Parts: sequence; C-alpha cells; structure tokens
Amino acid sequence: MGKIKKPLVAIIGGGASGLVAAILAKNNGAEVIILEQMDRVGKKILATGNGRCNISNTDLDISNYFGKDPQFARAALGYFNFQRTEEFFENLGIAYKVEEEGKVFPYSEQASSVLDVLRYELERIGVEILCDSRVDKISGNANNFTLTINKDKKINADRIIIATGGKAAPNLGSNGSGYVLAKNLGHKIIEPFPALVQLKLESPFLKALKGIKFIGTVEITPENNSPENARGEILFTEYGISGPPILSLSRCASESIKTRQKVLLKISIIDTKSEKVLAEYLNNRFEKQKHKTIFFSLVGFINKKLIPVILKEAGIENIHQPVHKTTPAERERIGSILQKWEFPVIGTNSWKAAQVTAGGISTREINADTMESKLCPGIFFAGEVIDIDGACGGYNLQWAWSSGAVAGQNAAKEIK
Ligand SMILES: Cc1cc2nc3c(=O)[nH]c(=O)nc-3n(C[C@H](O)[C@H](O)[C@H](O)COP(=O)(O)OP(=O)(O)OC[C@H]3O[C@@H](n4cnc5c(N)ncnc54)[C@H](O)[C@@H]3O)c2cc1C
Repeated sequence: MGKIKKPLVAIIGGGASGLVAAILAKNNGAEVIILEQMDRVGKKILATGNGRCNISNTDLDISNYFGKDPQFARAALGYFNFQRTEEFFENLGIAYKVEEEGKVFPYSEQASSVLDVLRYELERIGVEILCDSRVDKISGNANNFTLTINKDKKINADRIIIATGGKAAPNLGSNGSGYVLAKNLGHKIIEPFPALVQLKLESPFLKALKGIKFIGTVEITPENNSPENARGEILFTEYGISGPPILSLSRCASESIKTRQKVLLKISIIDTKSEKVLAEYLNNRFEKQKHKTIFFSLVGFINKKLIPVILKEAGIENIHQPVHKTTPAERERIGSILQKWEFPVIGTNSWKAAQVTAGGISTREINADTMESKLCPGIFFAGEVIDIDGACGGYNLQWAWSSGAVAGQNAAKEIK
C-alpha cells in the first residue's frame, strides 16, 4: 500500500477566492501556505459594496454570469451554493441581511468584518500567510512544484491554486500577473476587458453636465447587437457617465468597443411618461408660461443645470428667448431629448476604475467540477482570474467563494 502524504497546497493570491480556498484546503487535511504580493491579504474585500461588502445574492441563477461559457460556473455555484456560503460565513460569525434584488450584506454593514473573520479563521486553523511575496514563476510537476518568489526566493509545493484575480482595481493587488503564470503553463487567455465600469461619452457638453444626478433609464445599443436597458440613478461626469445602471450595462458596451463596434447610449430623463403624454404636457406647460423665457419655463420640471444644455442640444441658441418664439420643431426636439438623448460611447474608464474583469483563463482547459487544470495536473484556479464574471449584486464575490471552495477542497486530496 502507498504511503499517504499530506499535500502542501500553495495558494497564489490572498483575495476572496484564495482565502476561502485556503480554509477549505486546510479543513480537508492539507498543509496550506498563502503567498500574497501586497503587504496584507484581502485588500479588495475591504473596498467591496462601498465598504459594506455585497457578499452574495439569494438568486444565483446562471443567467447572472458571463464569459465564453457561463455554464462552466454552474458546478461550483451548485456545490458551494448560497446556502453553503451562508452556513460557512455564519459559522465564522457573519450574520446576514438581504436587501433589494436579493443582495446580501453582513449585518454589521462592514466589509472589514468579513475580512476579519476570514483572517481569524486562517490563524485559528494554522494557515501560513506570507505577504510581500509575489510569485513570478511556477516550474515542476504535481507533487513537486517550485514557485519563484520576488525573483530569487524558492518554495516547493505539491499543489498550486492560482487565485490572483484579474486586472480590475490594480491598486488593490490584481494586476494581471495570474495570466502570465497561466500562459507559461500553456493555458489560453481570453483577452480581458473591463466590466462594471463607467463609460466615456462623446459630447461637447460634458463640462456643463458634470455632477448632475437624476433617476432615469439608459439604453445601450451596440452596432451588431440588440439593445439592453437599465433604470436607476445616473450621474454625468467629466469623462461621460456613471451610476448603477451604467455599471450594469457596461459589460455589453465594453465588449462591443473591444470588437470595434459603434455603441450608442440613449438616456431617458423623463421615463415615466409616454412620448404622447410628454408632448401634450410640454405643450400645455409652454402655453401656460408663454410670458417666461424658454429656460425659465422648464424650471421646476427638470434639473436646472440640465436646462441650458438640453436647449442648446435642441438647437436653441438664445435660451432667454420668450417661450412664444420657440418653433413647434424646437419644442418637439426638447421632448425628444428628454426621452431619448443620444450619445456615442467612445470607451470605458480604465482598469483602475473597473470593479471586475471580463475574460481571463479559458474555461475549456479547466475541469469545472474540481477547478483543476486539464493541461497541468496539480494546478488549480479560483476566482476572477478565470473567464467568468458576474452581474452587479454580489455575484462576483459569490463566484470567488464558490470557485475558491471547490479548488481548495480538491487541491487537498491526499497523495499516494
Ligand atoms: C471597488 C470594488 C467593489 C466591489 N464590490 C463588490 C461587491 O460588493 N460584491 C461583489 O460580488 N463583488 C464586488 N467586487 C468584485 C469582487 O471584489 C471581485 O470579483 C473578487 O474580490 C475577486 O476575488 P479574487 O480572489 O478572484 O481576486 P482579488 O480579490 O483581486 O485577489 C487577488 C489577490 O491576488 C494577489 N496577487 C495577484 N498576483 C499575485 C502574484 N503573482 N503573487 C502573489 N499574489 C498575487 C493580489 O494582490 C490580490 O490580493 C468589487 C470590486 C471592486 C474593485
């Protein structure tokens, strides 16, 4: 009978997926070491959910996940599902609350409490953590890997979990280095692009619009795809546009821009009235206020800062002209801008501002049930480094927890 040996699992990256992978690997009998390039683990967790950490979502339907093959995520999300995740974190001390659209937050409303309990558990069960340790190279084979750290230090390991994150928010650690490690092992990388990110617009009015917020509907239409829309708080910025509905639609825009398609964004500021009702309303309003300037006639109906821009966009040069001097065509254009104001999208904000990476290590070369590489036995992957990303609403952290748990558990399997 072969002698049973406890595997030494080295986890590259102490983010959400790496920390959960470490706990599962240790609890399944492995010796575990986390190698983290930053001065501490879990920096990104602290920034999640505006510091509140949208830890998961009660509805983990696969339609909330994207990538070349979103179905790949099904096995891990089914195994370490919402219930298991809830139990896992409850055992560590996190009480939950569920908010709108199934978004789950810690009751404390503190992302730091999620990191605190993970770090406490890692210490309690004896996982070693080496910070300021950037892994530059992986060589060798299963049961006999060598990792090169900070150019010259070497560490041996039986199994490796690559949990390095993607390219989004590099100030929090994830700078794309996992793709280089995976590529050197022969893995294919689906070209990454920013998701959950603000959009850059083309408009001569951005300076004037900067800082204006309103609740409205946005529609994104890529040249070769059908339109997608979302509603919520929209914010104009000096480069373009931001806010929850923009982040939700940004993946579609970002992917289309990457493939050099033209992308059009339409904003509806007045989205609670039909076209006909709005036209009638405006006509009545203009009739009642014909003694006022065209600018002043709209005060009280739309944000005051928007009025001059909308009038200029409608072709009205003198915004102080009396209402009765505006032509029916100009009035019609005002109505049309209020409901479908069009802007060409010319790009996304940079990786620095993006919350998530779309693209990454191709799922075709990873076993969905174990997260093990099909090309290099003994190498596992977890989290955002894989070509899976989720919608806004707790889906990305859930993917990190689920894929991390599956990778950790399977990497710990005994070696004969
Ligand atoms: C501002 C912001 C808010 C967000 N809010 C939410 C939210 O509320 N809900 C949600 O579901 N998702 C949210 N996300 C997304 C979510 O945080 C990520 O999808 C998730 O953290 C990814 O986990 P990960 O372990 O794959 O990668 P990361 O958390 O990025 O961790 C990767 C770690 O690997 C380390 N590393 C990288 N390369 C190396 C190397 N070569 N050697 C050693 N270490 C290395 C990095 O330093 C980093 O610590 C947010 C993201 C951002 C940026």
